[in-house]
Amino acid sequence: MQLIFEKSRQGRGSVLLPACDVPEVALPEELQREEALRLPELSETEISRHYTALAKRAHGVNDGFYPLGSCTMKYNPRIDEEMAALPGFTGIHPLQPADTVLGCKQVLDTAKQYLCEATGMDDITFQPAAGAHGEFTGLLLMKAYHEANGDFNRKKIIIPDAAHGTNPASAVMAGFTVVTIPSNEHGCVDLDALRASVGEDTAGLMLTNPNTVGIFDPNILEITEIIHQAGGLNYYDGANFNAIMGVVRPGDMGFDVVHLNLHKTFATPHGGGGPGSGPVACKAILAPYLPASAIQNGQDGTEGRLQLKAFYGNFLVVLKAMTYMLTLGAEGIRNACEGAVLNANYMMHGLKDVYPVAYAGDHCMHEFVLTLEELKKETGVSALDVAKSLIDHDIHPPTMYFPLIVHEALMFEPTETESRETLDEAIAVMRQLYQMACENGEEMHHAPHHAQIKRPDEVLAARQPVLRYQWEQA
Ligand SMILES: *Cc1c(COP(=O)(O)O)cnc(C)c1O
Repeated sequence: MQLIFEKSRQGRGSVLLPACDVPEVALPEELQREEALRLPELSETEISRHYTALAKRAHGVNDGFYPLGSCTMKYNPRIDEEMAALPGFTGIHPLQPADTVLGCKQVLDTAKQYLCEATGMDDITFQPAAGAHGEFTGLLLMKAYHEANGDFNRKKIIIPDAAHGTNPASAVMAGFTVVTIPSNEHGCVDLDALRASVGEDTAGLMLTNPNTVGIFDPNILEITEIIHQAGGLNYYDGANFNAIMGVVRPGDMGFDVVHLNLHKTFATPHGGGGPGSGPVACKAILAPYLPASAIQNGQDGTEGRLQLKAFYGNFLVVLKAMTYMLTLGAEGIRNACEGAVLNANYMMHGLKDVYPVAYAGDHCMHEFVLTLEELKKETGVSALDVAKSLIDHDIHPPTMYFPLIVHEALMFEPTETESRETLDEAIAVMRQLYQMACENGEEMHHAPHHAQIKRPDEVLAARQPVLRYQWEQA
């Protein structure tokens, strides 16, 4: 397929600007480009066909099963998009007088009320644009809290070895040192290791529960208490909130601050690089350190407060989340959560006699992790080979090689919006691939065979990314 730059023809275009009806102002020289910006030039028909062709080559939630573990690729109801497209919401400016956007304020207030209730927290900021951004924000709140208490030595954040990579990265970016603690044989926090790691330098703990192997830590109250006893705070990574929403709350598990991924749990399409939202909710003790909103800023002495993103963050994403919560209601939210857990268990039980489940108990939460270590030893077929083979069956690969504590890991998160038929089909495909690995594994090393592209060189793509079109070579 040709790139849009290759289709470009000089002078062709599709923009007809209206005549300028304001005085023209020349930009100061130092702000002007030295060379004109070169953009592809195409007619509207060509652009439309180009993007339609691209869309057809991609696999999204609306194309088929997408069990990408940890990412909660659920179906996002159309009504949420419809609400976010209403001109009253899209046609506003964040600096317009507050009394002209009372409806938008009500959206934020409603979302705040529901999300605080769902997490068991007292206050919230909608500024962070993603989960990792929320982690960074939450850690800065913890830091501000300790410093306000004169506790300048609390520099260490304790993080289990099963954590998502963003956790230690955020902690380091926020100026902390990371203390990694090992998981026990159940994939949960090793209490002795935790006790041994806390002290007067402990700023806090970062944890996701259920953890990244899909298990709810039965010692959660003890864990958060150990941190509190040591004078630290507890951060809840809410990326796995789909597994507990409407059933248990981080605030009741002893957590002081939590981020949510609205683009995972609350109905915003996720994965295409579009806008996300990682609101941070916290207990009252941390509320004074939350980023100031534009309405507050400058009007009640909040100058100088943390700013993580302009104004209210990605407002339309919050609006979608609010719509989602209003359409489901408290009971619906709980049903969605229970459906997610049921679907994951259904699928896990359909596979576990052929693919061993890491840290297998009798049940999992919203996701489970298979380990293909044995399969690879016996047949040479790796987790990557199986994942790529799924593409030939129109199934998006699960998350691979994560968490790091599981070898040859495949992490499945089917979500609640998949039917039993879809799960049965995926189970059948996975079992068929197991047979294939045992009988004719060689072929799987080259999968996918029927996809738009063959197996890309992932190392080359990561090490030498070509991010910009080189016009000269065209
Ligand atoms: C997705 C995820 C994150 C990061 O969220 P982003 O929105 O991708 O920045 C953090 N922790 C866990 C467990 C996740 O699954």
